[in-house]
Amino acid sequence: MSGFDSFLKNEKLIERLKRDITANRLAHAYIIEGGEGCGKRTLANLICAAASCSESDRPCMECISCYKILRAQSPDVITVGADKDRVQISVDVIRRLREDTVVAPNDLARKFYIIPKADTMNVQAQNAMLKILEEPPPYVMFLLLCERADDLLPTIRSRAPIYRVESLDDDIIIEALKSDENAKLLSENDPDAFFAAVRLARGSLGRAKELTDPKSAAECLKIYKKAERYIDLLAERRDAASELAFYEYSSKLANSKEREELEGIYSLLSDAIRDLINVKLTKSPSPIFYITPEKAREVADRFALSKLMTLLEVFMSAHNSLERNANINLTQIKTSAAAAAATRVK
Ligand SMILES: [Zn+2]
Repeated sequence: MSGFDSFLKNEKLIERLKRDITANRLAHAYIIEGGEGCGKRTLANLICAAASCSESDRPCMECISCYKILRAQSPDVITVGADKDRVQISVDVIRRLREDTVVAPNDLARKFYIIPKADTMNVQAQNAMLKILEEPPPYVMFLLLCERADDLLPTIRSRAPIYRVESLDDDIIIEALKSDENAKLLSENDPDAFFAAVRLARGSLGRAKELTDPKSAAECLKIYKKAERYIDLLAERRDAASELAFYEYSSKLANSKEREELEGIYSLLSDAIRDLINVKLTKSPSPIFYITPEKAREVADRFALSKLMTLLEVFMSAHNSLERNANINLTQIKTSAAAAAATRVK
C-alpha cells in the first residue's frame, strides 16, 4: 500500500500522481490549489516522499527517506515564506531561493521547495520564480501551494501541472475519525464538542484530528457557541438597550492576541449565513454550520433574504481583512457596526 492511499477522496488526482511516479514522469514543479486546510501541505509532503522513496510502492512511509520527510527532518525539504512581518513574498525571498538551488541536495536525491502561500508572491517575485522554473537545476522540485491557481501569473501556470485538492465532506471525516482514539472518546462523551471540532476543521482530516484532542475540543466548542450566540443576537429585534448589549458582545469576540480565533469565528459566521441563504433558496440544502436543515430553516425564518446577503458580505470581508493583517480590535468594531446596520429594524 502506498502512502497516497491515506489521502482521502481526490481519487482522480491520486491516480494521476501514482501513474506519473510509476513512470518516473514527475515534473519539476507542481501547483497544488485548494481551500484552507484541505490537505495541500500533506499532499506536497507525500509527493516529496514519493519522489525520494526507494521502494516499489511509493511512498512506502517507512524507508529512511520517507521517515525523514514525513517528520520534517530532512534539510532537503525547504519551506519558503514571506520575510518576518511581511504579508507578501518579495523578490528578495525568491532571489535567495535561487541562490540556494545551486547547492546540491544533502541527504535526498532531490531538493524540494514548498511555498505554502505561493499566491502571496508579488509580481516581481513571480517573475523571478518564472526564471528559475524555466531552467531549474535537475535535482530540484517546486511545490507551489495556493487557494486558487488563477492568482498566479499565466506564465507560471503554464510551467507546472495544477492539482486541485477538494476538501472532504464532514461525513467522510466522521467516518475516518472512528479509528482515532481521542475523536472516538469525544464523540461518545461530548457529541456537541465533537461536532463543533469537525465543523471547524473545514474539510481537513488532519485538522479534525488535532481539534478532537480533548484540550482543543473544548476550545472549538467555545468558538462555535460564540458564533451561534452572535447569530441569535442578530436575529433579535433590538431597542436601544439591547443594541448596546449587541455591541458589547460583538465587538469583543476576541482579545487583541487572538487573531486566529477571530478568523475562525468570522469564517463560521460566513458558513452559518450561507446555510441560512441556502435554506431560503434551495429545495434540499445541506448545511455546513447547522446540524440539520430544519435547524437552519428555523433560524433563517427570522431573517429577510436581503439582510442575509448583506451579512454574508460583512463577515467575509471581516475575515479577509484579518487575513491581510488588519487590526483586530478595529475589525471587530467595524464589523459590529456593519452587522448591526444590516439587521436594524427601521
Ligand atoms: Zn519510502
